[in-house]
Order: sequence, then structure tokens, then C-alpha cells
Amino acid sequence: MEPVKLAIIGGSGVYRLEKLKITGEHEIMTPFGKPSDKILIGEIGGNRVAFLARHGEGHLIMPSEINNCANIWAMKSLGVRRIISISAVGSLKEEIRPGDFVLPDQLFDRTKGRVSTFFGNGAVAHVSFAEPYCSGLSELIHGHAANLGIRSSIGGTYVCIEGPQFSTKAESRFYRSTGADIIGMTNLPEAKLAREAELCYATIALVTDYDVWKDETVTVDKVLATLKANAENVNRLLESLLSDRGVFECADHACWHSLENAIMTAPDKIPHDTYRNLELLIGRYVKP
Ligand SMILES: [Zn+2]
Repeated sequence: MEPVKLAIIGGSGVYRLEKLKITGEHEIMTPFGKPSDKILIGEIGGNRVAFLARHGEGHLIMPSEINNCANIWAMKSLGVRRIISISAVGSLKEEIRPGDFVLPDQLFDRTKGRVSTFFGNGAVAHVSFAEPYCSGLSELIHGHAANLGIRSSIGGTYVCIEGPQFSTKAESRFYRSTGADIIGMTNLPEAKLAREAELCYATIALVTDYDVWKDETVTVDKVLATLKANAENVNRLLESLLSDRGVFECADHACWHSLENAIMTAPDKIPHDTYRNLELLIGRYVKP
């Protein structure tokens, strides 16, 4: 199969892409189990992309249950170099309004016990994660959003909580006091695994509400209207973005070399089974 260079992982409210002309559906089995769903391959704006619904089509998988290792490994096996994640979030700041898009540049981990690395079982690697998102890809997305007149901002910290419950008011106020900007349940460990797989990773965070810190009456009507507007805008944005060849290039090539000096284990000490499972990721650096 010809490699697909770009993948989109859809979150809450984005289970299919309106503009995607589907040309193939792939059930991929990985050494880490099954991905969230079939991976759809199709075209938008004349360019091929892969699409995966993070929660499964029909929303069957909660954030703690997502097999992120399988999702990222499956994308890597298709030849993907860049991932755009679409994630619904709550806002922790007055000026970030429901309906806005945010391209975060930082992450704060409040998840508990999720599998957050491909390594272990006799193979150790420590990748750099100081800058968890690909700045080049985020800037490109932000530029297209601005051209389309979508209210969006670049930069900001995404707090990733375990869920599935939303925060208490005390937690929400605490996160606000740290200066964080948005709150969601899925960017970790997805971003960590994308980094270990040497993929660019950027998130389009779709703001649905003000979390619970703001004593605001949330009505179902309001939330549904925001979700609908967000879905329409994200489809417009992706169509514009994917007609741009620049989306397939990486301006800061660091993303594609994150394992270069990160693997600590002596090659001859990596157990055979571990090597076989990791070969797709480490094969260019380590030969048994
Ligand atoms: Zn990158």
C-alpha cells in the first residue's frame, strides 16, 4: 500500500469527516492490540489522509479505555508522518470562548495509570517532551483558521484529566490558578506516543464550554449549537488545510528524529520479542 503521510484522529463529535472521500477501510492488528476502530483512508482537497475515530464510531470507548499504543502504531505502520488530533475541550479562561479553536503548545498530565510508552520489557528510551506539540504544524493550522475567519488562538496549556467525570469546581479553579488554558481527557498519552513514534503531533482543540469554574447555566440547546458550529468549522478548516502541500512537510525536523539519542538499552540486550514489537519504531537506529 502506498504510504499515507497525514492522519487525523477525531474526538467527541467528530466520528467521520464530511469531506473525506473514502477509498479504503483497514482493520489493523498491532503488537499492542486493536486500534479504536477501522482506519479510513480517503481524499480531502486532492490529498490522501488516514482517519480514525478515537472513541470508535458511535462513541463506545471512554478516554481511559483508548488503546493509544495501537492507534499510534497503526498510523505509523501506514507510513504516517504527521498527526492532527481533534479534541473537544473546556475553557479555563474568560477570553477563550465556546466555539473558539485553540492550538495548544503545552500539556499538563493529570491522567492516572494509562499506558504511556511503547517501551519497557527490556527496552528503555527517554524522548524529549519539553515541547509536546509540533510548532510548525500548529502554526500552519492556525494560519488557515485565521484565513477562514474562525476565532482561534495559538499557544496555551491543555490539562489532561483522567475522567470520565468532569472536574469539581475546586479542581477547575486550581487548574485556572496554574495559568492553564483548556481542559480535556485525551491528548495524553496520545502526544507522548506520537513523539516516541517520531511523528509530528498537533491538536485542534474545539472549545465547547467554560468547564465548571464559571458559574454559568449550561443548557443542552447551547451545547448542541456549539458542537454543531465546531463540527462545521473543523470540516471547513480541514478542507482548506489539506489542499495545502505544506501540511505534509515538517518545518522543525526534530519531530522525526526524537529517538535518535533516546534509546538507552544496549542493542544486544534487547529481548527478541521486545525488538520484534518495536522494530517499526526503532529499526532505523537499532539492529539486533
Ligand atoms: Zn513536526
